[in-house]
Amino acid sequence: MELIDPRTFLLVANLLGMLFALVLWVQARSFPADIHGLRHWALAIALISAASGLASLRGIVHDGLAIIASNGFSLGGEFLLVVGLQRYRGMTPHWRPVLDIMGATLLLIVWLTYGVPNYPGRIFLMCLAHIGFFTVGSWLAWGARPSGFGNRFLGTVFFLGVLVALWRIATLSSGLEQGEHVEHNLVQQVYLGMFSLGALALAIGFILLTGEGLRQQLEFLAAHDPMTGAFNRRAFFARASVEWARAARSGRPLAVLVADIDFFKKINDAHGHHVGDEVIKDFARRVGELLRIPDLLARFGGEEFVILLPDTGAEDARLVAERIRREIAESSARTTAGTARQPGYTVSIGLATACAKGTALPAPEALIATADAALYRAKQGGRNRVEGI
Ligand code: GH3
Ligand code: MG
Ligand code: MG
Repeated sequence: MELIDPRTFLLVANLLGMLFALVLWVQARSFPADIHGLRHWALAIALISAASGLASLRGIVHDGLAIIASNGFSLGGEFLLVVGLQRYRGMTPHWRPVLDIMGATLLLIVWLTYGVPNYPGRIFLMCLAHIGFFTVGSWLAWGARPSGFGNRFLGTVFFLGVLVALWRIATLSSGLEQGEHVEHNLVQQVYLGMFSLGALALAIGFILLTGEGLRQQLEFLAAHDPMTGAFNRRAFFARASVEWARAARSGRPLAVLVADIDFFKKINDAHGHHVGDEVIKDFARRVGELLRIPDLLARFGGEEFVILLPDTGAEDARLVAERIRREIAESSARTTAGTARQPGYTVSIGLATACAKGTALPAPEALIATADAALYRAKQGGRNRVEGI
């Protein structure tokens, strides 16, 4: 007596596949638009489940459905898995050559069904296609970010798919097959079963991967300014409190710089808000390149940034501020003289330092206010300069 009827098992597995396709579709609608590939995967899993479902009905439904449509769906589904992963990774897929090969494969399948019927030939051809798609899928999944359980699970399932296809080819010449129809062919039952379960595992893997990607994106947005990637005010104070505690214990100095782009309103007025945004991004990128790993760069307002330099005394802080001021002024001189569309600009910087030796450290807000007062003097003094102790 059979423990479970293979057709019932496949029916349940393929219906589950359809449910997962629905989950992927719903996720595609609710996730941010810059997490790509979910719609491709929803359609892909639906197609693969339909393909396996139709194949399991061989002998009950017309061969045009059980063989031709089934293999067509399976090729289309696997193609969409690969395209979806490419889109998720921000790659531009080159569809044309693959679509040509898929078309040719399907024509051959038709020929091997109605022209010169050849069951092992069809299986062999489809296994080659599986091996091709799953190898690429495995490679794409391993390289997908964020790296973690999701992408490794996905890469492993694709790789197991390659092994299953190789095993299926090996069984073709082993004499294990007893007819083409699923109910008489144990190898085909196991194969279809693994195929359906594999589609479920793939869907789970992609849901994990995109979920992890979303979590990382939200974490980043909670702590950073999306335009420049610099910390936001809240994240700055959270991290500053750690540095303050460290400086209070060690007695080592720390410094704060407040930087504000000069005559920024004029840039906006003359070139438009969009160019103004590019200038702000340019400033954050250049400053980020000049800072050390422990230094913190935060965007506090429009074109105003606060920089925390741990373990830095007045002399070194002035050197850093001066380096930033010079880099901006000189790069602006270069772009103004050159061909770049970005207008030249300068920056004024106020600095303040504190040290816990003998006295208590002023609060972060107080040190920033001191640096702000120095910035005001720098603006009054003609801009493009550094003021402070
Ligand atoms: P100063 O040299 O005294 O700093 O002159 P300023 O023109 O830079 O003066 P202020 O700091 O008052 O001007 C800031 C302007 O920045 C005002 C506001 O319209 C603009 N701004 C604020 N946020 C953004 C932003 O995200 N993008 C762009 N393009 N402009 C912004
Ligand atoms: Mg300004
Ligand atoms: Mg300002």
